[in-house]
Formats: sequence, structure tokens, C-alpha cells
Amino acid sequence: MSKICNACGMPLEKKEDFAGGNEEMDYCLHCADESGSVHSCEEIFEGGVQFFMGATGADRALAERVTRKNMKGLPHWQGKTCTVLEGEEATDAEFAEALAKL
Ligand SMILES: [Zn+2]
Repeated sequence: MSKICNACGMPLEKKEDFAGGNEEMDYCLHCADESGSVHSCEEIFEGGVQFFMGATGADRALAERVTRKNMKGLPHWQGKTCTVLEGEEATDAEFAEALAKL
């Protein structure tokens, strides 16, 4: 079985990847604390932007669009209002290209 973080999409492969080291969690250690409380949309968005810039060499504008598309496809953000997710999203091609570099 393979889970992903419901807020950022990070693969949850080993115990240490989970929030609080708890494999019952649907969130990674970056997105939630050990009680399962999930960080703000702004914090997780900024973490995603930094991650994509570092991992794929994208500039900030592209990293923001890729992060937006990634987060908007994940369960945690469905039906939530979040200003940083309102902007432009990466195209499918840009998104696939970014993921291929990870
Ligand atoms: Zn996460």
C-alpha cells in the first residue's frame, strides 16, 4: 500500500514520513503536527513552491503554478477557500514536465 499526503502529495513510504510518525495519519510531517493539525494553506503552498524550485529548477512563477495545480488536486483542499490557490495553474504539460524531474 502506498499513501500520499492529502495536503501536499508527498509519498508516505516510511513511518518517519507521517506527521508525528503515526501511520494512521493522512498527512506528512511537513504539513501537520503530531496531533494531526494541518498547517495553513499559505504555509503549505510556500513549502511547495520552495520544493519545486529546488527540485526542478523552475523559476518562482512556474513553481507557484505547479504547486497550485498539485494542491488543488488533493483531498485536503477540496471545498476550501484559499487565496494563494486562486491564481493561475500550470498546464498539464508543465505539470507533467515538473513531476518528471522529481
Ligand atoms: Zn504534506
